[in-house]
Amino acid sequence: MKYDIIVSGSGPAGSIAAKIAAENGLKTLVLERHSLEPRFEKPCGGSMPKLVFTDFNIPPEKVAEKEIVGNIIVAPNRNEYVLEVPGELYGWNVKRSVFDKYLCQGAIDSGAEVMENTLVNELIFKNRQVIGIKAKYEGKIKEFFSNLTIAADGVGSKIVVEAGLRNKWDVKKDLGRCAVAFVSNYNLKNEKKDSKYNQFYLSNEIAPNAYGWVFPLSGNLVNVGIGIHKLTDANPMDYLRKFINWVGIKNKFDNPKIEWKSNYPVPVSGIKGKTFTDGLIAVGDSAGFVSPWLGEGIYFAMWTGKFAAETAIEAHEKEDFSKNSLKIYKKKYTKKKFPSIFSAHKAFRALIMTDLEKSVNAIINLLNTNPEAQNILKNTLIGESKEIPPDLMVKVLNLIQEALR
Ligand SMILES: Cc1cc2nc3c(=O)[nH]c(=O)nc-3n(C[C@H](O)[C@H](O)[C@H](O)COP(=O)(O)OP(=O)(O)OC[C@H]3O[C@@H](n4cnc5c(N)ncnc54)[C@H](O)[C@@H]3O)c2cc1C
Repeated sequence: MKYDIIVSGSGPAGSIAAKIAAENGLKTLVLERHSLEPRFEKPCGGSMPKLVFTDFNIPPEKVAEKEIVGNIIVAPNRNEYVLEVPGELYGWNVKRSVFDKYLCQGAIDSGAEVMENTLVNELIFKNRQVIGIKAKYEGKIKEFFSNLTIAADGVGSKIVVEAGLRNKWDVKKDLGRCAVAFVSNYNLKNEKKDSKYNQFYLSNEIAPNAYGWVFPLSGNLVNVGIGIHKLTDANPMDYLRKFINWVGIKNKFDNPKIEWKSNYPVPVSGIKGKTFTDGLIAVGDSAGFVSPWLGEGIYFAMWTGKFAAETAIEAHEKEDFSKNSLKIYKKKYTKKKFPSIFSAHKAFRALIMTDLEKSVNAIINLLNTNPEAQNILKNTLIGESKEIPPDLMVKVLNLIQEALR
């Protein structure tokens, strides 16, 4: 049977793409390697700004574990800065098993067919155009044909490499390696603030070249994680264990109990290579749509899923699935400023990471003492979904450099 579009992967990018395509009358098939029930717990911090919910009409009460009002940033010297806009919500924290299930159900309700336990293996080409997918289901390789394929199969996508969109990731340069756990017995009495604030710990001892986090979930459960960058021989799980047992974290629990843990990479070098070719579009993590500064990518995954579906709808109207026809996809995400957001976040990270300890101590000091810096840096640090204007970026970098002198 031939489909209008096949989506490889039912994470946030794939489910949004499938929902919009199916709603608009395209015959849509989603191939998902994991089972849908119980839904795979994608290793993730699960923190999202409120824009994710408002832009995509997602009712927080159906998917969220915790409402978040701000972020506490802890410097290596243990000074902190509370990043919040009084009277405004920052967003919500979710468990990905719940959030992804909700989005996938949205695609099914809109008419998309979803095949679970189906591992996409390779592409089928005709005259260099992608015309389908080979996938393993119940031990057998099956072929599926479509006018257009959307690669939404995350950081491990093989098909984007096979299609020649990008090379394999360079583990040292391109990937943050993360470990995450749901930990119970968090003591909410000690620090009233913690229950509605996400905490970020920046220090090379805790998380080399990245950060550690504690994100509250419901009840006494929290999501604790670390990312490491550039160290290829270190094990992120070792850093996670150390972080949970570090006195600054351990004391926040009445005997921390790990309920679930896992590890997973995240792309942190921004959009990598090309994002479309004849018959194929890459969305979300598969193409590197993740903030190189924060390592957060759900917002970008969902928007690129939406842009890919809109592109697919136009391509069907034109009956043209060539890369020339699909170039409107790039126009859409460029208009939304994703490439410039990633460049700014990358520059910011590069500056901080040259001497993480010194620069973060200086930044937290600046934030606590200099109102101008507060305004500028608020934009930079919260600015996941906002473009940082180049002149503001220069000001930020100058301020940090001055503080480092
Ligand atoms: C530890 C960690 C913490 C993070 N914390 C945050 C955070 O707090 N906030 C945030 O915004 N982002 C966070 N991120 C990034 C975020 O998880 C990703 O950017 C986001 O999940 C990307 O969505 P996606 O749909 O592109 O890919 P994914 O969510 O990875 O979804 C891919 C889907 O494809 C399926 N799949 C994979 N391979 C195949 C195959 N061969 N065949 C069929 N199906 C396949 C998978 O099972 C999955 O369902 C974090 C990442 C990590 C690793």
